[in-house]
Amino acid sequence: MSTISVRKSDSNGQMASAAVPSVSPNYGSPRTAAIAAVTNYHPKSPPLSFVETPTQELFGANVFNRSVMKDRLPKWVYKSVVGTIESGGPLDPSVADIVASAMKDWAIEKGATHYAHVFYPLTGATAEKHDSFLTPDGDGSAIAEFSGKQLIQGEPDGSSFPTGGIRQTFEARGYTIWDVTSPAYVLENPNGTTLCIPTAFVSWTGEALDKKTPVLRSMQALNKQAQRILKLFGHVDGAFVSSTAGPEQEYFLVDRHFYFARPDLFTAGRTLFGAAPPKGQEFDDHYFGAIPERVLAFMLETERELFKLGVPVKTRHNEVAPGQYEIAPIFESANLATDHQQMTMITLRRVAEKYGMACLTHEKPFAGLNGSGKHVNWSLGSSSQGNLLDPGATPHDNAQFLVFCAAVIRAVYKYQGLLRSVVASAGNDHRLGANEAPPAILSIFLGDQLTDIFEQIEGGGAKSSIEKPPLTVGVDVLPPLPMDAGDRNRTSPFAFTGNRFEFRAVGANQSIAGPLVAMNTIVAESLDFCATKLEKATGGDSEKLHEAVQALLTEIIKEASPVIFNGDGYSEEWHAEAERRGLLNLKTSADALPVLKEPQIEALFEKYGVLSKRELESRLDTYLEQYCKSVTVEANLMLEMSRTLIFPAAVRYQNELASTCTNLKMLGYEFDVDTLDKMTELVKGLQDSTNLLDKVLSSGDHEDGIAEARYFCDEVIPLMTEVRRYADELEGYVADDLWPLPTYQEMLFIK
Ligand code: ADP
Ligand code: MG
Repeated sequence: MSTISVRKSDSNGQMASAAVPSVSPNYGSPRTAAIAAVTNYHPKSPPLSFVETPTQELFGANVFNRSVMKDRLPKWVYKSVVGTIESGGPLDPSVADIVASAMKDWAIEKGATHYAHVFYPLTGATAEKHDSFLTPDGDGSAIAEFSGKQLIQGEPDGSSFPTGGIRQTFEARGYTIWDVTSPAYVLENPNGTTLCIPTAFVSWTGEALDKKTPVLRSMQALNKQAQRILKLFGHVDGAFVSSTAGPEQEYFLVDRHFYFARPDLFTAGRTLFGAAPPKGQEFDDHYFGAIPERVLAFMLETERELFKLGVPVKTRHNEVAPGQYEIAPIFESANLATDHQQMTMITLRRVAEKYGMACLTHEKPFAGLNGSGKHVNWSLGSSSQGNLLDPGATPHDNAQFLVFCAAVIRAVYKYQGLLRSVVASAGNDHRLGANEAPPAILSIFLGDQLTDIFEQIEGGGAKSSIEKPPLTVGVDVLPPLPMDAGDRNRTSPFAFTGNRFEFRAVGANQSIAGPLVAMNTIVAESLDFCATKLEKATGGDSEKLHEAVQALLTEIIKEASPVIFNGDGYSEEWHAEAERRGLLNLKTSADALPVLKEPQIEALFEKYGVLSKRELESRLDTYLEQYCKSVTVEANLMLEMSRTLIFPAAVRYQNELASTCTNLKMLGYEFDVDTLDKMTELVKGLQDSTNLLDKVLSSGDHEDGIAEARYFCDEVIPLMTEVRRYADELEGYVADDLWPLPTYQEMLFIK
């Protein structure tokens, strides 16, 4: 390194000799290389043609669905399998060999070499274990085999999945069990395909080690209680009442070059540093705007892949923040929707890679911009009764609807804490309770019409439904539209949206299984409460039903009305008002997760056969552990990036300023040292806060998981915010050519 000799005046006014190295800018930095690569992007693969293969032909092409089964299975087997799917009744094990053989032939025709039991561990991820169809036949060759037993049951060595203490590694036995209600499918890879079989994952004692088993159990519980209500209203056809779910997935896309130039993005899925860009989302010019070409190409291929897997994706659009998008399917039964949602996340990530981008499903990849949620639209219905949350044209007259709707309101009121805890994660804490939509306070948006009806009920009986005049726009060529009975409210964590509820607090990175299990179970409990009251009041006499319903609804609404709020959920007034109403405001995971330990919650899950006390404890342990691990990883990353990327860049620039100052002074010029002072202050702040974070991170001895989560939440995270504050301010001073990390501006706007 070349050095120049300068003389610095010491306190006695004499010139001291010092060596000040000249600084060369780091032009080959990953950041500049990334920018060059992004602007030179060309698609790698030839364009897709929907003319050659129309979407109708693609949809479900890789799914062992009902029509394939109808073609390939003997009639009695087909009937038996479909019967189980529709009624939720037990599966006849004698069909397994026949189904397995048909499935294998079908999959091999589609190029499959292996089969995989796919399961959903408590991490929220999707896991699979692949086995070849081939078995040696003893004569030196091999035959393709797949028995009913192999279809029904697998034994992955799942000892390294978190089980929250249910299983120790020495008793690692766990089984995967075929879930006939979620169809098998063939997953493509350029070098072959795999037959995938959705399964439940349980311990050798039958305890649920996964996310699917409780979903199935909660659906069963919901059906049982819904049937009792339907029976009171004279519907006894017994068609399975299923909970339905339509999850809207928000995500960000960034170019992979930027992604890999940011250790925080590729390791933690979010930026731990980054100053606000001069232009963010304030112009709302991205929301619903024209979709950029590369992004649209990515969306078309993602949808095409999902179509093949039978995932009914329907909607795509830009979201509020720059670089943010949404994909939403048509709703399906909760279990299937959950599996399909997992496939959607995997497919988004996989296809993004192909288009040179990274798909970020973290809840808050970029500070200061909107985070990503997963709005879970939820309802319940059956093949004979349709959607049970459809109010019809005159909801005040629709007693059955009102009972189901009131049951949901009561459930949300009574189990606010549980609903908050099932969306708790380190990532989602950056949305909920962090001045972003939706707030951590659980409330229900009902809309004017329903609110009015429930108010009338509370006042003695509902006589009318507010009707809106047709919508007039004042332009003759536009057709008249009926006005919706309720407006929309984007700030509510739990909103009635015409014929379903939308749970908006769910995090973008989460499995929707937990939220669905909670909703199904609390509504089952509420329906149980309603049915018991109504059965008692009517004593089997349907003449008395109307009066009994009026009494029940009045009781529910008197108790649960504090949870109804149609105003602006972001406002400060609401926070104060919610407190007056006695609603919970569990701001962080450390506040929310311990709800799972409450006796009321344990009793709830136990009573409806959804989770035993031990199973619930195992979930709490796992989620606490995941929370602490996520924060630990982020804090360690922060230390590393602060010390090896940001601090070096800052001192280089500081040195550059200092040497300029010295040199100019030597030549007799004045040099204003304001910037140098500021840099020195920030560098010191960065160094001190980083060292303190390091210290706090490596200390602490905790009694249990709850205490540990509390420690991370109260001690570690605030220091991380501190370190970031210095780093982000430094980004505004350090010479651009020295700054090592792609900036928000670059990641969000260079496409
Ligand atoms: P919006 O713009 O009104 O939110 P979208 O078209 O984005 O509507 O769809 C919201 C989601 O709600 C879709 O996935 C849709 O299938 C789903 N949905 C509609 N009806 C139901 C229902 N009965 N149960 C569950 N989800 C539903
Ligand atoms: Mg929507």
